[in-house]
Amino acid sequence: MAMGSAETGVGAPRAGGAAAADLERLWELQQVDGAIRAAREGLEGHPDRVEAESARDAAARLEAACRSHQERLRELRMTVRRLERELAEAEREGDQLQERLFGGAVTHPKELSSLQARLEAIRERAGRLQDEALEQMESLEQTERALAQAREDLDRARERLGQAERRWEATRRDLEAELARLERRRAQLVAAVANPTHLARYERLAGAKGGQALALVDQERCSACGMPLSNLVLTEARRKERMIFCETCGRILYWPPGRHLGLPGAPAPA
Ligand SMILES: [Zn+2]
Repeated sequence: MAMGSAETGVGAPRAGGAAAADLERLWELQQVDGAIRAAREGLEGHPDRVEAESARDAAARLEAACRSHQERLRELRMTVRRLERELAEAEREGDQLQERLFGGAVTHPKELSSLQARLEAIRERAGRLQDEALEQMESLEQTERALAQAREDLDRARERLGQAERRWEATRRDLEAELARLERRRAQLVAAVANPTHLARYERLAGAKGGQALALVDQERCSACGMPLSNLVLTEARRKERMIFCETCGRILYWPPGRHLGLPGAPAPA
């Protein structure tokens, strides 16, 4: 217990100097602020949120696909109806020409050959219309199948979206409740800091140093920047009569209560 007795040489461990209670509150405040940042980031990029957004996008894409298929179907049905009308018209005209050609009323050879030519032309046209109508009907069937598939996919996507939104909603409520709890704790700690200068220094340093205003004293070094601390600084940091800063990085030094090792003036271990 050589080291234990050596401590008495630099002053017996005290319950704490004038700044001790504020340092404890600021140390906890730093943990709470870290947790608040993590909770906010957690809300922002939470996997449940990402999944809900992705499910929403997928459902929107399928809704758009369904609308586009429906639009295409309307066009194709109109085209098929038009082709069928034109085909019926061509067939009727063909029937009339055939009747005149073979009815016996027309006997003049020149007129007969002209009728013959018109009949052939109209039948050719009817053939083309029929081919085109068949082609369009095939497209129509394909589009109907594509629409049925897209509707099926959309049903599944909406189910996935519903689940993802419920899950994210529950997660968000939990995270927001945790955040609210942390904010309340922060307010309590801020109110409990006795010296407003201490709080102001904490806030300024936290803003300047990525949330780490306080640095633990560890192995006679500042744990934030890693630089060794002078004996005077170590002694004062431990006494906590006032705020002591790291000479290198400027952070507030925090000597955790109950730590007695690494004291200045302690003899080197044998
Ligand atoms: Zn430092």
